[in-house]
Amino acid sequence: MAFFRSFGKFGSNSMKILLINKNGYFNSKFLSSSTRIMSAASPTSQLNANSPQSQKIGKRDPLDTSFDNHIDAFKSKTTVELIRAYLVYVLCSSEYLVENNMKIMKLMNSILGDKVFNMLMKSTFYGHFVAGEDQVKIVPCLERLRSFGVKPILDYSVEEDLSQEEAEEREVTAATPLAAPNPSDPSHLPQYVVDKTFADRRYKVLGARTYFYLNEATCERNMEIFIKCLEAVKYSSFGTGITAIKLTALGRPNLLLQISEVIQRTRQYMRDIAGGTGNVLTHHKTIKDLEKYFGKLGDQKDVKEFLERMTTDKEGILHLFPWSGIVNEECQLSDTFRVPDPKTGQMRRLTSQIQPKEEEMFRNMIRRLNNIVKIAEELDVRIMIDAEQTYFQPAISRITLEMMRKYNTKKAIVFNTYQCYLKEAYQEVVTDLEQASRQNFYFGAKLVRGAYMDQERARADALGYEDPINANYEATTEMYHKTLTECLRRIKHLKNAGADPKKIAIMVASHNEDTVRFAIEKMKEIGISPEDKVICFGQLLGMCDYITMPLGQAGYSAYKYIPYGPVKEVLPYLSRRAQENKGVLKKIQKEKRLLKTEIFRRLSRGQLFYKPKGDYVPI
Ligand SMILES: Cc1cc2nc3c(=O)[nH]c(=O)nc-3n(C[C@H](O)[C@H](O)[C@H](O)COP(=O)(O)OP(=O)(O)OC[C@H]3O[C@@H](n4cnc5c(N)ncnc54)[C@H](O)[C@@H]3O)c2cc1C
Repeated sequence: MAFFRSFGKFGSNSMKILLINKNGYFNSKFLSSSTRIMSAASPTSQLNANSPQSQKIGKRDPLDTSFDNHIDAFKSKTTVELIRAYLVYVLCSSEYLVENNMKIMKLMNSILGDKVFNMLMKSTFYGHFVAGEDQVKIVPCLERLRSFGVKPILDYSVEEDLSQEEAEEREVTAATPLAAPNPSDPSHLPQYVVDKTFADRRYKVLGARTYFYLNEATCERNMEIFIKCLEAVKYSSFGTGITAIKLTALGRPNLLLQISEVIQRTRQYMRDIAGGTGNVLTHHKTIKDLEKYFGKLGDQKDVKEFLERMTTDKEGILHLFPWSGIVNEECQLSDTFRVPDPKTGQMRRLTSQIQPKEEEMFRNMIRRLNNIVKIAEELDVRIMIDAEQTYFQPAISRITLEMMRKYNTKKAIVFNTYQCYLKEAYQEVVTDLEQASRQNFYFGAKLVRGAYMDQERARADALGYEDPINANYEATTEMYHKTLTECLRRIKHLKNAGADPKKIAIMVASHNEDTVRFAIEKMKEIGISPEDKVICFGQLLGMCDYITMPLGQAGYSAYKYIPYGPVKEVLPYLSRRAQENKGVLKKIQKEKRLLKTEIFRRLSRGQLFYKPKGDYVPI
């Protein structure tokens, strides 16, 4: 029996119908049809991670944790693809080519014309790092990965090719409040000041893409793109895939900046009135403690109302603001963030004035995010919200946590991201884990080291606030391993208590083989198996196949971060990949060595036309 699915191409009415046979593999045909992508209610949408197809246990290989086995690493690739990969890495080792890659690519495009240039890119960089132009063209890549036990995280990687000046101008405009500064506004904390020098957020960032706000219409378009990604994931990965999104794509960054600052001020306010240190939003204080603190001031009308509005969770721990409200589409920010002055009892705002237009923009951002997550929930596809710069991140993290509370009631649909290069990473994760436990929602987290280190440090130095990054690489690694161990320990605790261990799900998103090895060893030591389906691993397409592929083939939950988009529009992404590869020479050297050995092995056995054929099934 064949299942039918249709995939829409961006900006086109032509449709491709995928026929999915009973083994779960694809055949595809173009049909002239105006049918939209099938809705979640269609019978085929029942084919999800729990369907018989995906539950079929495929072949499993033993895992060599030295990640030195070139046969296992590359058996999913043709020999021509290996030669292409080797060539790409050789080109990435050239300082001149890497430094001038964008100029060279543009020059070649103008000399060769689009057709030949596209062909050239597909046989080199694009072919190696990008899965295809649209949801249909990426299917063979996803299908191949799947047959070798690896699942996709889809990212539509089209980026605007802005000059530095354009990026700076857009950012300064979009990060500045609409209202002129008011004398009653609290003065900005240095971290949240808009500074033109750091307005181009792409500065020294290779590991992540950057969105620059243009207007509400572009945010609306970004939402639609994310939704198309969700649909593509659903229909191309049997519900096992993930979509990656960035909050800066969905709204005006000024609002994230303002909320981040409020969170920082709230922490300070709580420290002042509750005592102690730490970065928690919810100090372990009860309303009674606060009433005692305000004493007679508590009789004043405003203070009384403030205390009445404050919410507590089931253990009586107080939340200064009804944070859950910020993911409601009727949220009024200016009404939310007011606190009584501890000395006078007079109410004061923790934000600068927010214009009605900005309130509307914030509600738009939240509506877009709610739309995306609702569709993810209907399609049963998970969604990972990327972590960004520290001046946005408190807001991104808080909004994501509230989305988790709202949507992760039966399973982890929304995943947050924690950057372990931050001094506060461990404490953040523990605080959020505790909130998830108290409020009984599923906690999903991607752990990364962090992509913005250089600009974070330079900005902190220039604007005069404490460097948020760990002192050195070793401290970041220690933070990563400590945070991961704590998550594993809590999962085991859930298992032992007979609770659902899936209440905590973690993605180890790292190209560092020591960290991947650490995770595997800790899983064994603590007693968590791949079959528990609570720990997964993620690396980028075209990077560290020697880690991802053996993991997938051995039955670990392994993901490739899959960029896709038209050749010309993913050039900025490719440019960053080239530069990043130059920066991680040690890993590249290992990948190059393994590629060379495997190419020679295949050629010496006459396997130039080796055809990869996998019979693995992702866990
Ligand atoms: C699937 C996936 C998703 C990702 N999503 C995000 C995301 O949402 N947000 C994000 O910020 N990044 C994200 N990243 C990028 C990630 O944060 C890292 O930049 C990248 O993976 C390199 O780290 P590593 O562990 O792979 O490699 P390693 O080479 O082991 O580590 C390099 C990293 O170590 C840290 N580091 C290096 N030197 C120092 C130092 N002197 N002091 C302190 N720390 C140091 C930096 O974070 C640097 O990026 C993602 C990566 C992957 C694979």
